[in-house]
Amino acid sequence: MQCCEKINCFEKGHICVPETKLPRIIIVGGGFAGLNLVKKLRNMPVQVVLIDKNNFHQFMPLLYQVATSGIEPDSIVFPFRKLFNNFKNVVFRMAEVTGIDSENKRLNTSIGYVYYDYLVLAGGSTTNYFGNDGFKNFGQGLKSVTDSLDIRSELLQNLEKAAVTCIKEEKEILSSIAIIGGGPAGVEMAGALAEFKKYVLPRDYPELKNIEMKIFLIEANNRLLQQMPTKLSDKTINYLSEMKVDVLLNTRTKMYDGTKITLDNGNTINAATFIWTAGVQGVTFSGLPTDAINKQNRIIVDSNSKVKSLANVFAIGDLAVMKTKEYPNGHPMVAQAAIQQGKTLATNLIKIIKDKPASSFKYHDKGSMATIGKKKAVAVINNMKFSGFLAWLIWSFIHLMTIIGVRNKLLIAINWLWNYFSYDKGDRVIIRKYSPVPEKIQVEY
Ligand SMILES: Cc1cc2nc3c(=O)[nH]c(=O)nc-3n(C[C@H](O)[C@H](O)[C@H](O)COP(=O)(O)OP(=O)(O)OC[C@H]3O[C@@H](n4cnc5c(N)ncnc54)[C@H](O)[C@@H]3O)c2cc1C
Repeated sequence: MQCCEKINCFEKGHICVPETKLPRIIIVGGGFAGLNLVKKLRNMPVQVVLIDKNNFHQFMPLLYQVATSGIEPDSIVFPFRKLFNNFKNVVFRMAEVTGIDSENKRLNTSIGYVYYDYLVLAGGSTTNYFGNDGFKNFGQGLKSVTDSLDIRSELLQNLEKAAVTCIKEEKEILSSIAIIGGGPAGVEMAGALAEFKKYVLPRDYPELKNIEMKIFLIEANNRLLQQMPTKLSDKTINYLSEMKVDVLLNTRTKMYDGTKITLDNGNTINAATFIWTAGVQGVTFSGLPTDAINKQNRIIVDSNSKVKSLANVFAIGDLAVMKTKEYPNGHPMVAQAAIQQGKTLATNLIKIIKDKPASSFKYHDKGSMATIGKKKAVAVINNMKFSGFLAWLIWSFIHLMTIIGVRNKLLIAINWLWNYFSYDKGDRVIIRKYSPVPEKIQVEY
C-alpha cells in the first residue's frame, strides 16, 4: 500500500490514516447508527475514522422494493466519500473489521490494523437461520442490497424456468414464493409480490396464465406485526388476504430442501423461492469478552452505550442491547433507535473527552409503520393509529424524506409515481445471475 507524507502507517500492516494530535474515534459501520454519529461529530475537535465493508450507506427499509423490481438498487444507497466531501475531520476506509485487541487499543481489519482512542461498534445485524442448514443453503435473507438483488434475480430466473417447462407441477413450484416472518419486512415483501402477481405476471408471462403464482406468508406467532396494536395486525391480514396472499399464523417452518417446506403441523408447501425474514443476530467481532455478548450475538452496553468490561469501547444500533426499565430486552432493532443512539453518543463522547459526565440514553419511540402494496399501509405515530390510503401517504412521505440525497429522493419519487399510475414495476431485470448451490430445479430445455 502506498502511503503519503504525514500518513500514520509507519508500522508494517498499519492502515494509512492521517497523523493527528486530536483524539481518534473509530466507528465500525456506517448504517443508521454509525452515520448519524459521524454527522454529529463533524467539525468537533476529534479525528473520526469510519470503517465499513461497503463504500456506501444503504437504506434498509426499501430493500424489499429492490427485491420486487419496484426501484433501482442505486436509489437506496449513497457513497460515503461523497457524503463526507466537506467533512474535514472525517476519514473513510473501506475494510471488513475482524476483531478487537482492546489491551493495545487496536482494531484488526481485512486491510491491516489501526489504533484507536475511542472505538464505536455499529456493525448492525445479520440474518439468523438458527442453525438450520436447509434455510441457509436454499433460502434467502434480506439484510443488504446484495440480498435484494439475489432475491430479484432468483425470482425472475424461476419465472423464466417456469415459462419453459412443460411439467405443470414444476411451473407451480417455480412460480411460488414463501416468505417466512410476519414482521414489517415480511409483510411489505408479501404485499409487493402480490402486486407483481396481479399486474406484471399476466402481461410478462403469458405462458403462466393457467398457473396460480402462490404467495405464502408464514408466521410462528398468532398475529402479524407484533409491535403494532392488534387492530392494525388484523387489518394487515385483511389487506393481504384481499390481495390473495396465503397467511399462515401459529405456524413454524421446520425444513426446506429447495422446493418443499415442511411445517411443524406436518403439512408441506411447495415453493422454489424462500425468503427468510424471521431472525436476526448481531454481527460478530473477535476479541470481545464473552460476558459482553448475549444469546443473539448482540453486545451488552450500559446506559451510555459503553461495552460491558471494556474501556473506551462503545456499541450502538442493532448490534447493541441496552436494557432499561421500559425496555428490559433492549430497544427495538429499528432505524429510529439506531439514529438516536448515534446522536446521543456523539454528544457523550465529546463530554467524556472533556472529562465531563455522560448522559444516559433515552429512547423516544416515534412509532412504526408498514405498507401493504401501493395505496395501503398501517401506522402508529405518537400513539395515533392510521390505516389504508392515509397511512400509505404518511409512509411514502416519511420514507422519501428519510432517504439520503436529492438524486435518490427524485429517483424513488419518479418510480413510485410511475408505478402508481401504470401499475408497472420497471426494474425486472436479471443483471447478474443468482446461482444457488446446488441448483434447486433442473429444467430441461
Ligand atoms: C428489510 C429490512 C427492512 C427494515 N425496515 C425498517 C423500517 O421500515 N423502519 C425501521 O425503523 N427499521 C427498519 N429496519 C431496521 C433498520 O434497518 C435497522 O434497525 C437499522 O439499519 C440498524 O442500523 P445500524 O446502524 O445498527 O445497522 P445497519 O444499518 O445494518 O448498518 C451496519 C453497517 O455496518 C457495516 N458492517 C457490518 N459488519 C461490518 C464489518 N465486519 N466490518 C465493517 N463494516 C461492517 C455494514 O456494511 C453496514 O453499513 C429494516 C431492516 C431490514 C433488514
